[in-house]
Amino acid sequence: ARLCETRPVRTTCPYCGVGCQMDVHVKDGRIQHVLGAMDGHNEGSLCVKGRFALDFTAHPERLRAPLIRRDGELVPAGWDEALDLVASRLLALREEHGPRSLGFLASARCTNEENYLFQKLARCMGTNNVDHCARLCHASSLEALVQAFGSASPTNVMADVVNAEVILVTGSNTTETHPVFSSRIKRAARSGATLVVADPREIGLTRHADLWLRPRPGTDIAWINGLMHVILSEGLENRDFIDRRTEGSEELREALAVYTPAYVQTATGIPAADLVRAARLYARAGAATILYCMGITQHTCGTDTVLALANLAMLCGQVGRPGAGINPLRGQNNVQGSCDMGGLPGVLPGYGRVDDDAALGRIEGLWKMSLSKTPGLTATEMFASPELRAMYIMGENPALSDADASHAQARLAALDFLVVQDIFLTETARLADVVLPAASALEKDGTFTNTDRRVQRVRAAVPCPGEALPDWRILNLLGPRLGVPMGYDRPEEIMREIALAAPIYGGIDYRRIRREGIVWPCPDQAHPGTPILHRETFPRGLGRFIPTHPQAPAEVPDEMYPFVLGTGRVLEHYHTGTMTRKSEGLNRIVPECFVEMNQEDAARLGIAHGRRVRVASRRGEISVRAEVTDRVARGHLFIPFHFAEAAANVLTNPALDPLARIPEFKVCAVRVIPE
Ligand code: SF4
Repeated sequence: ARLCETRPVRTTCPYCGVGCQMDVHVKDGRIQHVLGAMDGHNEGSLCVKGRFALDFTAHPERLRAPLIRRDGELVPAGWDEALDLVASRLLALREEHGPRSLGFLASARCTNEENYLFQKLARCMGTNNVDHCARLCHASSLEALVQAFGSASPTNVMADVVNAEVILVTGSNTTETHPVFSSRIKRAARSGATLVVADPREIGLTRHADLWLRPRPGTDIAWINGLMHVILSEGLENRDFIDRRTEGSEELREALAVYTPAYVQTATGIPAADLVRAARLYARAGAATILYCMGITQHTCGTDTVLALANLAMLCGQVGRPGAGINPLRGQNNVQGSCDMGGLPGVLPGYGRVDDDAALGRIEGLWKMSLSKTPGLTATEMFASPELRAMYIMGENPALSDADASHAQARLAALDFLVVQDIFLTETARLADVVLPAASALEKDGTFTNTDRRVQRVRAAVPCPGEALPDWRILNLLGPRLGVPMGYDRPEEIMREIALAAPIYGGIDYRRIRREGIVWPCPDQAHPGTPILHRETFPRGLGRFIPTHPQAPAEVPDEMYPFVLGTGRVLEHYHTGTMTRKSEGLNRIVPECFVEMNQEDAARLGIAHGRRVRVASRRGEISVRAEVTDRVARGHLFIPFHFAEAAANVLTNPALDPLARIPEFKVCAVRVIPE
């Protein structure tokens, strides 16, 4: 009877990149309960966040009106006053310092339509300084997979994992970061697939693995090269695939000569016999898939590590078939879509390069504007560049999410002008000159694109609080004030323009999306979508082997800072906690930050389980509860990054991968002091 009183709204989960389909039951404008959609790709499953953590929408601290800083305080203002101020300050700074003095951060939490408008606004103002949190998660995948294949997107949809005989999961704590997908992986393992996990930390999937490789942090290239050494020395490579589909294999063979199992054991700590077993399993499988995430990418050698994985997949022909692929799992709900929409400094919607005349000319023709062909600054470069005078940040919280967060906060505070558009007064919004109140994903229409590359509908279930507006409406109101034509009545209209701007979305419209979504590339209305990429050829033609070699992390332990710290997520919280820390149930389960520490290290320092400790790096220190466990090896620590009051990124090292400009979140040197 209770179900009958409520109205179900089918939408997409606003949390992780799995993009589960859900029916949100609403009564009197409030969410009552949420059920997984049986006919969605998630087959009715939801994790604790999707099922129980949408109560943030009705939280009393939601932003309800625009805020303007007056006499040092943020005070309520009307929409016209706030937007006029944003427009006049951005135009004045552009006039005085040029368009490259403006920086724009798009958002993996906003819809495709909103990201499309946001990057359009930035580019039409004369700058390609537009980026977003993909810089902090998969920028290394983008660099590496474009070099190797010509395209950086996950190659296979999640459901295809059932076709894999061997599943290699590395640098991904899938159970906590992509929970519903991890259930599918476990199901595949129970049905006979061989699961190999490579991770320095004991994670949920290691309990289900046939083989757990435990490399020391920062040594991934050595063990991946070791697998390839064994494969080549035992003649297990796929010679036909190499000859037909790739180039550069001889250089690779030469480069791998040194990576004998004995050498790799010394370099990584992985027993030689385990390395040989993993190599044979992967190479002999009829189909093997690689699933990886930020344990691989968030290093100063992130690009090179992804290149090594691409080399491995091509060496064995494990790409372009059912069950065979290489899949960078997308972290946030719409990080795939915000990249697709051109929320990046070097590429336009659909991944045409800004410095490619043909690609730029097509967008200029569509928008009837002349655009800059100079690639913009990445997000991490924006925080380092003295050139930048103003930032417009939509739905991101760099004050907590950036490495060396204290520096990021100081930089934001020192800007001439900062606009933040968000649903709560985040740590970043508190530093702003103008705060614009936005709708959450439960209060607007549009689309998200999940880690499948599956474009799915987002539908408003409840009304916006107070005067808050969907981001696309805010951009629609602001654009003309900045001389950028907008005039969209509905998100569906924006999607029609996206189909013209981005050929990979060419055949996608709301009418076609329906319940199962559409997996791009979908170039025309007759095209069914593409669940598996690179079947016949790679976008660059031949796949390119690019040998890489291990490099030490930018900061290694020493006497003063003897531990290696890695950061990451827990199941119950999400990113900087903007939404999940406003969810009563989740806060009850995981109320505070903690540091995982090995039992032997804890005993040596006299630290009991549950005791408070200070963790300090060269950049700052935080106070957390000690979680004494054997999940981490001796000398290693793990801290989740969701907690503002104990922000792990106060500690992390901002050293960057030279190509991807991604910080080394996964390795920095720290010490632990009992309180
Ligand atoms: Fe939402 Fe991800 Fe959980 Fe699915 S697995 S319910 S998309 S957080």
